Amino acid sequence: MRKAFLSILCLPLLMSAASAAPKVLATIKPIHSLAAAVMQGVAEPELLIGGALSEHSYALKPSDARKIEGADVIIEVGPDLETYLQAPLQALGGHAKILVLERVPGMHLLPARHGGLWEGDEDDHGPTDPHIWLDPENSIAMTRAIAETLARRDPSHAAAYRANAVREVAMITALDKELRATLAPLGNKPYLVFHDAYHYFEARYGLHPAGSVTVAPDRPVGARRVAELHDAVASGRIICLFREPQFPPKLIETLDEGTRARVGVLDPLGADLTPGPNLYPQLMRNLARGLTACLARNR
Ligand SMILES: [Zn+2]
Repeated sequence: MRKAFLSILCLPLLMSAASAAPKVLATIKPIHSLAAAVMQGVAEPELLIGGALSEHSYALKPSDARKIEGADVIIEVGPDLETYLQAPLQALGGHAKILVLERVPGMHLLPARHGGLWEGDEDDHGPTDPHIWLDPENSIAMTRAIAETLARRDPSHAAAYRANAVREVAMITALDKELRATLAPLGNKPYLVFHDAYHYFEARYGLHPAGSVTVAPDRPVGARRVAELHDAVASGRIICLFREPQFPPKLIETLDEGTRARVGVLDPLGADLTPGPNLYPQLMRNLARGLTACLARNR
């Protein structure tokens, strides 16, 4: 009898625990970072793809399937990037709200590049470039969309999500200004990237890339293509070749052999960075630093 009375007393406590923050799952580090900033002081989102894995092709593990099943809100870039995720989301993410960032209001999309030294291929990347987080304007749109989605799903923390979003937007606005100043001197320096990941960043800051080595970072590059690229590098008009930490440096070293071009590193995903609210500005500053370190030096 006394026990039953006690459990009735405890009921309101249990109920308030049940209305705790939703379980949020973000697919890749940069958008996980924006979600973590919006959720600061409330809860931490989970990350699906950690470590130094590619954002393009990824085989889900059983533990990933459990994360998807347990999520209340799933935040993804969208089918143009996370092709591997669409079927499991349909199958496992039944009760979750899925926020597709490439479709949120204010998002500005660019096409994947083709022709010249751009190794574009619509079969692989789709017509849209999915690396949307590399334009701060897009990250502002995503931050707002994440906050509104969470506020609707979890009204008890709506004020916190919205206040965090306002702070994050101010941070990104200042970051954008800083990057514009840092990158201004690099406008006319041609370089080659490993894969076509930086269109948003380059368009925003007026950079001058000459092309990309590969379309799908995990797909082998043919001998003819390697010869064509090596000729371009050897001609002297390419100042830098940028490799990515997610992939072995061998191909870039081959292209650089016997030329005067330098080799730098660019990482569109934050492979080595600790996930969390600070990852996004670190990733963007690292890109600016990587470009400056390689392109701004005299030959
Ligand atoms: Zn990519």
